[in-house]
Amino acid sequence: MTIDLTGSVAWVTGGASGIGRAIVGTLAGAGARVVSLDIGHRDAGETDGIATVALDVRDPAAVATVTADLAARGLEPDVLVNDAGITRDGVVWKLSDADWDAVLDVNLGGAFRMTRAVAPFMRARRRGAIVNIASINGLRGKFGQANYAASKGGLIAFTRAVAKELARERVRVNAVAPGFIDTPMTRALPEPVLAQARAEAVLGRLGDPADIAHAVLFLVSPLASHITGQVLVVDGGQTI
Ligand code: NAP
Repeated sequence: MTIDLTGSVAWVTGGASGIGRAIVGTLAGAGARVVSLDIGHRDAGETDGIATVALDVRDPAAVATVTADLAARGLEPDVLVNDAGITRDGVVWKLSDADWDAVLDVNLGGAFRMTRAVAPFMRARRRGAIVNIASINGLRGKFGQANYAASKGGLIAFTRAVAKELARERVRVNAVAPGFIDTPMTRALPEPVLAQARAEAVLGRLGDPADIAHAVLFLVSPLASHITGQVLVVDGGQTI
């Protein structure tokens, strides 16, 4: 059985790097036209069904403008993947207001602003799928990541609330909670942290961005047509 997304349009935030980049490639590989939205995209363009657009998901005006521009180009979204995320780690007694606000603003606020922007299109067409990239640390908590864990736990609660709000129009909203995935975000971490993640993962390896992209592909596909408001943990067994 293959998943064919031909004829659908998918927007992916954080699409320039790591997990987001893998999601962009996987959805495009399944036939979707994909719009990669990332603060790091410098030039707007479109090649092989993948359009790149510079967007800072913290900026409500920019989100509104980009949404209107894409809709005017015939790129109304059938799929939204909220992947853009950052870390600013520190134990809570040393955490600055700036680092608290920055993480909440991108990881949770960004997903809110993007979801608010696409919801009218999906509601009007009575179809759509949204996937929020959360984290196992939003479920279990993590030493040194009170801000990040709060943002991802909030994103999971947001997922469930919005799933209820959009269900009447058949729009599904789910989350994927990755464990430790080998990306630029995690490559900078000290070796003992990597070793701990490897030891926790009963499948014996760190995750690959493709592991998350495949879960997203399933959740946005017709195979998941009766799944909404759920959190799919993809962590090699790290949290069992
Ligand atoms: P990554 O390689 O750093 O990619 C994140 C992308 O988001 C980058 O291209 C980044 O751009 C972009 N971005 C940051 N702030 C943005 C903003 N304000 N507006 C638009 N784009 C923005 O990280 P990753 O590891 O692939 O993580 C992707 C998602 O998975 C994140 O939500 C992360 O929390 C989640 N996650 C990752 C792991 C893991 O182990 N890697 C585990 C659980 C969950 P710049 O690089 O230019 O800042």
